[in-house]
Amino acid sequence: MSIRSTVEALPGFQPFFLAGRWVAAEGRPRREVVDPATQEVLTTVADATADDVDEAVAAAVEAHRDRRWRGMAPLDRARILTRVADLIEADLEELAILETRDNGKPIERSRADTLSAARTFRHFAGAPSRLGGTVIPIDGGGHHVYTAWEPVGPVAIVLPWNFPIMTAAFKLAPALAAGCPVVAKPAEDTPLTILRLAAILQEAGVPDGVVSVLTGDGATGAALTAHPDIAKITFTGSTEVGRIVAHVAADDFKRVTLELGGKSPNIVFEDADLDAAVLTAMRASFGHSGQMCTAGSRLLVQRSILEEMTERLAAAVRRVPVGDGLDGGITVGPLVSEEQRQRVLGYIATGVEEGAELVVGGGVREPGFYVEPTLFAGVTNDMTIAREEIFGPVVGIIPFDDEADALRIANDSDFGLAAAVWTRDLSRAHRMAGALEAGTVWINTYNVFDPALSFGGVGASGLGRDLGDEGLHGFCEPKSVVIAI
Ligand code: NAD
Repeated sequence: MSIRSTVEALPGFQPFFLAGRWVAAEGRPRREVVDPATQEVLTTVADATADDVDEAVAAAVEAHRDRRWRGMAPLDRARILTRVADLIEADLEELAILETRDNGKPIERSRADTLSAARTFRHFAGAPSRLGGTVIPIDGGGHHVYTAWEPVGPVAIVLPWNFPIMTAAFKLAPALAAGCPVVAKPAEDTPLTILRLAAILQEAGVPDGVVSVLTGDGATGAALTAHPDIAKITFTGSTEVGRIVAHVAADDFKRVTLELGGKSPNIVFEDADLDAAVLTAMRASFGHSGQMCTAGSRLLVQRSILEEMTERLAAAVRRVPVGDGLDGGITVGPLVSEEQRQRVLGYIATGVEEGAELVVGGGVREPGFYVEPTLFAGVTNDMTIAREEIFGPVVGIIPFDDEADALRIANDSDFGLAAAVWTRDLSRAHRMAGALEAGTVWINTYNVFDPALSFGGVGASGLGRDLGDEGLHGFCEPKSVVIAI
């Protein structure tokens, strides 16, 4: 069976998942889900209302109160979360195709994202048993003091469209491992794989009421994050909306994790392995059509190799495969929507107006929401295309003189999500890793993730961390118990 006919065999996804029930869309505003590669309407989903949000949060509160999930033996929760990972793997190809139809990303990327979701559940399946506290000596024996990690309470999960199933797993797996009930809201453009994930969680044995998935737009997200019974918000999305969410959280001291935008520097020194640097720069800039929070969209190149690198990069950009993500072998698929395409084209026009040299690309391709892979040279760090997140297949070369200059340019950003350094000089690699203001620094590589490794940013890139023990602890309240002996 071809990939496309497998998609056509998939059932519709009209209902959303509210506390163990699949709710019909009747009486709620409908939203079309569009395939960005063909502009075909795949299905419709409903916008959950404020009443739906109330009902889902009430179910989460009830589940927290009666301890139906957090009161389960750690190994029983571990078994269920492992089963979630098994079921994702069993449905991997179907989920990956669904992701590509919904989001437009290349099928290989969707497979990798779906596998990453399974790995994330598998990693955090082991967490319930290892969420132990410590015994702390505070005096000569007059007190017995211990600490415990307790689930924070009902969690609101709000997700972006660029990595739908992967970011869902980044948050659902540790939240559930910590013992929290959750209400999740996918992005309006990409609801399909997380609805399928809800069915998997139910099949794996997560008790009813512990997980709800409400489709909807910003209004649904706003109702959810403002709900007074939500104890913690974990949000991945734009810095602009992240700021609104932070304000909402402040009102009643909700715990909050924010994974926001980036403008990551990818820094190539003259002593680097240039073959590897060029190849990886293509992936870092154009992978998933540049719709990555970690996109290496500021390509810092040492002036002594500027001419050679510009030529090599231009040739590589011309070879970047563009097309329907389902065709296979594609790097740049369509952008997620026409709105997003117009935004990206606006940035390209601004780049030209502000004096950057358009070396390759800048155009569109139709049908589908395609923007050509685009390379700018002669970019300075004060230009709009160097300061704002473009979220499209656009990269700008920024020249630098030496290590100090590279560091100054790299750190001159509101964002601080990730950075990469290409050099064969080990001492310089360590100096740069220490001095770069970013949540993650990659040396001679890019975009390496693992569920055991925390991920997040500094400055306008956010607050707190997903994944790793830091991500897990973000769904817990630490408690200290002091007993006089
Ligand atoms: P977005 O901020 O527009 O939307 C994110 C989510 O917030 C959506 O589900 C949306 O419906 C919801 N939302 C909108 N208004 C809201 C409100 N007032 N209250 C609550 N929720 C609201 O972001 P996007 O365009 O979907 O995603 C792209 C952005 O996500 C980029 O900036 C990207 O860098 C960022 N991102 C960051 C990471 C990371 O880990 N740092 C990962 C992926 C994406």
